[in-house]
Amino acid sequence: MTQHFQSEYDLHCHSYYSDGTLSPQQLVELAQQRSVKYLALTDHDTVAGLEVIQSAAASTDLTIIAGVEISVTWCKKVLHIVGLNIDPKSEALLTLLSRLQQVRQQRAQLMGEKLEKLGCTGVLETALQYAGIGMVTRSHFGRALLDLGYVSHMEAAFSKYLRQGKPGYVTVEWATLAETIEAIRQAGGHAVLAHPQRYNMSATWMRRLLMEFKALGGSAIEVVYGAYNRNQICTARDYAVRFGLMGSVGSDLHFPDQPWVKLGSLAPLPSNVTPIWTQF
Ligand code: AMP
Ligand code: MN
Ligand code: MN
Ligand code: MN
Repeated sequence: MTQHFQSEYDLHCHSYYSDGTLSPQQLVELAQQRSVKYLALTDHDTVAGLEVIQSAAASTDLTIIAGVEISVTWCKKVLHIVGLNIDPKSEALLTLLSRLQQVRQQRAQLMGEKLEKLGCTGVLETALQYAGIGMVTRSHFGRALLDLGYVSHMEAAFSKYLRQGKPGYVTVEWATLAETIEAIRQAGGHAVLAHPQRYNMSATWMRRLLMEFKALGGSAIEVVYGAYNRNQICTARDYAVRFGLMGSVGSDLHFPDQPWVKLGSLAPLPSNVTPIWTQF
């Protein structure tokens, strides 16, 4: 039986400032419909939507937590570190993000060239058009491959072209783990390891990562994540307890029409994990 949970906290979601489809205003409306009281907007490598969502929520009882999801390269693996309760005007943070924004632009060009050579013409132009004012991401390339008819569904865009090791993938150097945690802390925020079980890491690698993350000043891991089942939540809880990390909860909503991911539809944080929001 599927249980339907509803949390007042959802500390991970995307708007069209990165690869979400909703505007900040629409996210505020959705949060209100879903009785979410504390919402963090965490777009990929940008804080551009934060001022907009703060003002959209100003006349409501919804509290916005300023956030960001930063792309990190650690031991040749790509990690996502969510910064929560940050100052979006922090120099240190903005400097890091502007570098990552350049990396995104350059990578998009290279991905476009690779796909062009594979016979997928026009993908870059379409992806950039979909990204609009937001960060250009592989999600936009996936949608472009789909809409231009090069694949028949989104998952195929990733499994055929966009995933690491596939011919459309371009390896880039994102931020280091150390500078990311440092920038988030300088911005007065807390560093959270996003979706720990999406990295396909062995237990040994995960322990190595969490030890380093903690030593560098990381605060929490996402214990309750949109698509996690009970077992995954227990595993993440055990990691939090073992490494003295707090817990966060987030749906990672990108589109409102994914039936398996709903804003605020999150199991409660296990009671032996300290919620990251006790620090806000
Ligand atoms: P990027 O940060 O530009 O490399 O893009 C990563 C984004 O692509 C993630 O945040 C997801 O939103 C999306 N993504 C990654 N893998 C998949 C997949 N298999 N299917 C659909 N979207 C994916
Ligand atoms: Mn994404
Ligand atoms: Mn992520
Ligand atoms: Mn995300």
